[in-house]
Amino acid sequence: MNLGLIVSLVVAAIAAGAGQSGQLQWFKGNLHTHTWWSDGDSPPETVVGWYKEHGYNFLVLSDHNGLSEGTKWINPEKSTKSTAATLYEKKYGPGWVENGQPPGKTEGPTYWRAKPLAEVRAFFEEPGRFLLIPGEEVSAAFEKHPVHLCALNLRDAIPAQKGKDVTETLQNNVSAIVEQSAKTGTLMLAQINHPNFKWGLTAEDIMPTQGATLMEVYNGHGSVGNSGDEQHPSLDYIYDAVLTRRLAELNLSIIYGTATDDAHSFTTGGAGGSHPGRGWVVVRARYLTPEKILKAMQKGDFYASTGVVLKDVEFHGDTLSIEIQPAPGVTYRTQFIGTLAGYDPKTSPRSPDPKADLTLKYSDDVGKVLSEQAGTKASYKLTGNELYVRAKVISSAKQPNPSVEGDVELAWVQPVRPQAGK
Ligand SMILES: [Zn+2]
Ligand SMILES: [Zn+2]
Repeated sequence: MNLGLIVSLVVAAIAAGAGQSGQLQWFKGNLHTHTWWSDGDSPPETVVGWYKEHGYNFLVLSDHNGLSEGTKWINPEKSTKSTAATLYEKKYGPGWVENGQPPGKTEGPTYWRAKPLAEVRAFFEEPGRFLLIPGEEVSAAFEKHPVHLCALNLRDAIPAQKGKDVTETLQNNVSAIVEQSAKTGTLMLAQINHPNFKWGLTAEDIMPTQGATLMEVYNGHGSVGNSGDEQHPSLDYIYDAVLTRRLAELNLSIIYGTATDDAHSFTTGGAGGSHPGRGWVVVRARYLTPEKILKAMQKGDFYASTGVVLKDVEFHGDTLSIEIQPAPGVTYRTQFIGTLAGYDPKTSPRSPDPKADLTLKYSDDVGKVLSEQAGTKASYKLTGNELYVRAKVISSAKQPNPSVEGDVELAWVQPVRPQAGK
């Protein structure tokens, strides 16, 4: 977090309808979603409509390996997309949807035209209320390891880049985003997606990466292993290892933590699967534009959530304070998590098999709970000895639409560093 810029603020919750007022306000958004342009089950309007109707202020359509541009015809009979096509026509009407025979075909099933982002933006966007940010999930792989990144505010599609190992594959894809940003003079951000999906990325794969601003600490897809398993550590564990080594040993910047939906399924519901409304970010900005939202995220002025709403987050005088918007009957505890200078840097392998590709075991000094507080207000005064401190709010409320049964609502406040003398 760029601390000089974070002053004490009393900020209203989501200021829907406030327009482009220039006041600091919280904007809720989802950075990772799929549509008919790749493997999502629904057309962009159904997806965008869902988020707009559920009070989100911005959305990134991040289809795999391409931007939603040009013309694409979908044959719903070939997949599970026929339910989506029926719902689409019912909701948006025959005057809006386009179906029939695509150019060059005269017979066969009815196709549906997936509309490009430009048309969808014109239909849904409202200044200060709802924004679409162009994106792509650059979906690469090294051997069996998926290496996926959301490229935010992208202008030109980026093909998946290769590398000689997982780390280099990740770096080459991040670099492609960074290079396009520099070349076009446009702010773009790279987010490292679902490290535990097919156990694709270890903490050690991620930590040397240069140019990535964000990393998912929660992804709402049902098979991404946010909490790890007997063999694999959770995303929180990986995140602390990444932060600690980057700051203490590699002299690299903080990577901020996001929660996203990675939604693919808008025609079904219930636990599991990849339904919308599970993970999001809430960004503090003065205007709802791609540049203002991305700039705020670049300096860590946002939090990630799977249900917990924060009234305020403040960092000044080396004190990190948060205030939670209480929900009836729900209790909260806040953990301030960090690593102190002089921590024990020893690591050991998690498995005797060197090919196991598992995140190393770090000492208990890494990502330690420095303080835990109950209630709707919590604060931590840094002593100056911390490499970083972040906060995680754990509520007693179960997520209504969990990717894994029993998951509770959480929030992640971005890491801060001591400012004294800096
Ligand atoms: Zn992915
Ligand atoms: Zn995805």
